[in-house]
Amino acid sequence: MEISGTTKLFCLIGSPVAHSGSPAMHNFSFEHLGMDCRYLAFDIGKEQIADAVSAMRTLPIHGCNVTMPCKTAILPYLDELSPAARLVGAVNTVVNRNGKLIGHITDGVGYVNSLRAEGVEVAGKRITVFGSGGAATAIQIQCALDGAEQITIFCREDSFLSQAQRTVQTIQEHVPSCRVERFDLTETEQLARSLAESHILANATKVGMAPLEQESLVPNAEWFHSGLVVTDAVYHPEATKMLREAKTKGCKVIGGLGMLLWQGAEAFRLFTGKEMPVKEVYEKYFQ
Ligand code: NAD
Repeated sequence: MEISGTTKLFCLIGSPVAHSGSPAMHNFSFEHLGMDCRYLAFDIGKEQIADAVSAMRTLPIHGCNVTMPCKTAILPYLDELSPAARLVGAVNTVVNRNGKLIGHITDGVGYVNSLRAEGVEVAGKRITVFGSGGAATAIQIQCALDGAEQITIFCREDSFLSQAQRTVQTIQEHVPSCRVERFDLTETEQLARSLAESHILANATKVGMAPLEQESLVPNAEWFHSGLVVTDAVYHPEATKMLREAKTKGCKVIGGLGMLLWQGAEAFRLFTGKEMPVKEVYEKYFQ
């Protein structure tokens, strides 16, 4: 479809953005659905956010995805936040509704929907999550909002520790029906117990991707059990060491590509009100 005088513009902002798969996914979907829309990537640093948001209102740009380093820095410039974005404290999708900019976070929905696509629901489940960075926080908050019975967080005492403490407080305050606890990754007896009691394990750390591709945060493969669904936010490699070991112990395993696909699909739905052609996007860009 040719660009016309009424073509709607969507975009990605952040830095770097040149490597992103989002423009291809969204433009393919627009074309597939015959929509007069285009999606571009703009390299925007934190110091340019105010101008970028102002341009979004003026031009107008109908929606944008937001990546590092802008996911939290954009918050003060938006008019409204979705419940999940407010609780996570970060935004990766902004929808321009007639000049009103609404921030959403789709990473957690992407995770939940990637499990759903594999026949796994988070409602009523006990979930162990590794990590307290951006992906981990989005997963923890969304699983709590979607009815998880218990979330047990294991993370290092690094610069992300305070985020883990905030997440525990946030869930206790806003989703009291979900039990939540945090432990250090070195508390291995507690980890063994938590895995034994869990239905789902989520790795949302950088462990498993280069240069940590030979590592897994489950120190003993005997702790996997066939009732545990083992998931990884890491998508490169597609099957991390943790997933490979879990599979040999009879676990259902789900890698991070699905989360990547479904977070984009959720952004597309928020942008357009239409479902992304997920199967076709998967076949073209993820296989
Ligand atoms: P981040 O920098 O915000 O957080 C990194 C997390 O990893 C922190 O909790 C940190 O403590 C932990 N960590 C790092 N090294 C560790 C180690 N050696 N041992 C234990 N913990 C360690 O990063 P992020 O954006 O949350 O990304 C985390 C992972 O999730 C990355 O691999 C990223 O590619 C992946 N991710 C995937 C998707 C997807 O759609 N599949 C989306 C976002 C992130």
